[in-house]
Amino acid sequence: MNPALKYLYHKVIDSPKRWRPFLAVYYLTYQCDFRCPYCSNGFGKPYHHLSQEVLPAGAVSEILTRIRRSCDYIVITGGEPLKYPDFGEVMRQVKELRFRDVALNTNGYDVERYLPQIADSVHTLIFSLDTLDEGKADQWFGIGRGAFRKICSNIMQAARLPRKKYRIVLSSVVTPRNIPDLYAVYDFAQINGFTFAACPELRGVKPPPELPGNGAYKDFFDFLVSEKKKGRAIHGTMPYLRHMRDFIRFSCRPFTMLVVDPLGQVFYPCLEIGHVAGNILECEDLHALREHGRKYFGPQLECDTRCHSACALGFSLILHHPLSLAQELFLMSKNSVTRRCIDARIVRREFSEGKGAQS
Ligand code: SF4
Ligand code: SF4
Repeated sequence: MNPALKYLYHKVIDSPKRWRPFLAVYYLTYQCDFRCPYCSNGFGKPYHHLSQEVLPAGAVSEILTRIRRSCDYIVITGGEPLKYPDFGEVMRQVKELRFRDVALNTNGYDVERYLPQIADSVHTLIFSLDTLDEGKADQWFGIGRGAFRKICSNIMQAARLPRKKYRIVLSSVVTPRNIPDLYAVYDFAQINGFTFAACPELRGVKPPPELPGNGAYKDFFDFLVSEKKKGRAIHGTMPYLRHMRDFIRFSCRPFTMLVVDPLGQVFYPCLEIGHVAGNILECEDLHALREHGRKYFGPQLECDTRCHSACALGFSLILHHPLSLAQELFLMSKNSVTRRCIDARIVRREFSEGKGAQS
């Protein structure tokens, strides 16, 4: 089913007997050497506290093949997905499967080792970056000094690579401890032509008590809304940014997604609730998996105010606020004009500084 028909399907029909996801989120491994203070799954556990078991490359390849039969879009995430021992082979496989869009989430530390394979396979390369304060960043990563510099160097190497097909997104977690730092991360993204994305810290499914009603938090999202209106590259529609800002309750649509853990287990209805409907290696019929989940765990219930994360909120809002998509397309076209103006200003400045003649 093509994406437009799938959209209409979810908007109009959304049968409880069918599972037709837009997007798969595949947790390739929960392994990660970092120790970010906000690291949390839906139950508040850091990913490095979960099972560190991974499947061999052949089984991962089978999972990807089965995912591809029902999803055009995939996010490969973790933990840190580049910790998967045969990550290069995974990249080769996703390329062969010809997804419409492959997004890769990474902390960026090992990116230089796989850059050619990533450049060949990934359309959206998402680096986590929460501050430009080197000392604070290294302390948060928890693996010793030098990590921040290595990550920044990898980001710039990824940006300069010729013949890449990905766009770069810098993704920040907004916590009570880094809000003032985020303006510099945003500027760094804009200057380099990256998209900026921000999500609140979630402990389990809820923000820490210091965020809702926090003036600095609200000001930052107001800043993003006003920048977005100018056509800057910021992830999310206007309603999305306002829901993030005010922690507005939304009606979740978890069956727009298929979330698979490192061993192939399929979450029902979502990772956050954490029921497992079955293993995609044993049953690739998603309708049967949904039916199985419904039988054992009951139908999807309406949740309270929670889960202000990119996927859960994003899909709910594009289904409930379709006009925001039109606005997003308009702002994207504005962004490409803005980007060309910024590029022209940089080129003019480089020529006036004599750099243009050297390059
Ligand atoms: S990089 Fe991601 S998975 Fe690793 S500790 Fe930080 S938040 Fe957790
Ligand atoms: S809001 Fe959505 S993602 Fe969060 S627990 Fe409820 S169904 Fe799951």
